[in-house]
Amino acid sequence: MALVVQKYGGTSVANIEKIENVAKRVINTKEAGNKVVVVMSAMAGETDRLINLALRTSEKPNEREYDALISTGEQITVSLLAITLDKMGYKAKSFLGYQVKIVTDQNHKEARILNIDTETITDELKRGTIVIVAGFQGVDIKNNITTLGRGGSDTSAVALAAALQAEVCEIYTDVDGIYTTDPSICPKARKLNKISYDEMLEMASAGAKVLHPRSVELAKKSSVPVHVRSSFNDDGGTLVTKEDKEMEKVVVSGITYDRDQAKVTVVHVPDRPGIAASLFTPLSDQNIIVDMIIQNASIEGYTDLTFTVSRKDIDEVKKIVETVARDVGAETVEYDENISKLSIVGVGMRSYAGVASKMFTALANERINIMMISTSEIKISCVIEAKYTELAVTILHDAFGLEKEG
Ligand code: ASP
Ligand code: MG
Repeated sequence: MALVVQKYGGTSVANIEKIENVAKRVINTKEAGNKVVVVMSAMAGETDRLINLALRTSEKPNEREYDALISTGEQITVSLLAITLDKMGYKAKSFLGYQVKIVTDQNHKEARILNIDTETITDELKRGTIVIVAGFQGVDIKNNITTLGRGGSDTSAVALAAALQAEVCEIYTDVDGIYTTDPSICPKARKLNKISYDEMLEMASAGAKVLHPRSVELAKKSSVPVHVRSSFNDDGGTLVTKEDKEMEKVVVSGITYDRDQAKVTVVHVPDRPGIAASLFTPLSDQNIIVDMIIQNASIEGYTDLTFTVSRKDIDEVKKIVETVARDVGAETVEYDENISKLSIVGVGMRSYAGVASKMFTALANERINIMMISTSEIKISCVIEAKYTELAVTILHDAFGLEKEG
């Protein structure tokens, strides 16, 4: 008997009818001879609604209570699914994070899973129960409810699949799978049958919003195959899995963009040891993630430092950076929120030369200026003006021939 973990996203559980549809899928999987563990998201829009309530109550809600509040959306959907399955004649039980014991660290709003107690679930599965677990939530060692960050129920699902050694973790969503790029801005985008963990990780952290980046990290670490597919049809989706020889033949597998970034430039900073540390340490102390960093060549003992952060953090960044800039004697700080980070990703890049120059040439041909560049072994990212995002994605999709398979 195989064990299958299925996770249903917010749009797949948005109302009673859709939850019935989920129940039918779960039953089919069970009737096919599998043990089934279901992980549920909150109904689409519900977590936003709860966050909004918290922020209307207080500008800076107490974090323990904030997590207690925003985790409740999942309590609704797990119990509704259990009620539905029971009505249809199946044994089903819902569990919240603390009931399973999904233990996390104490970092409210962005907690990491440390351990999952599998005993309760395994016992229920042995009795033939369909186990339904609330995604997005856990409990810390002091019994406080924690949440895993927006989109975190993917991570709940993969972590459960890993802990239970499931055959596969199926992620049901409102798209058919992972595409070469966002189909809503590039009609030629093509669904990928397969993608490697590393490519998916780069794409997820470079702005592709289908999977929570942490879930891909976990899947890779524990070698859980993740099948991303639609809950509205029976088509096969995209399998996120170990890299194979076929994948290496493809230079670029996907193109992503991220319009939620902002660029910060500290102008005319003295070029001496310790300056970068004095700038980036207070940012990391506040858990602010700095993505790209560029330091210009120094001229007469001064340099410019440019970096990008998530736009949601910009107010906090401004406070910190202006203080540091004053302390170190920088001339001024400039901000640009009209930027977009464009990334091309592919494991084949490791063995082909000229990928970067092809990207830069394609952008230059459209007179799109590149403001920043960063590379990893399997990714090249460029910061450009936000208004060119669609155009840039489309021309790169053509330049690398992504509409054709393999
Ligand atoms: N309900 C949570 C959110 O909206 C978690 C999830 O759906 O993955 O972020
Ligand atoms: Mg999601």
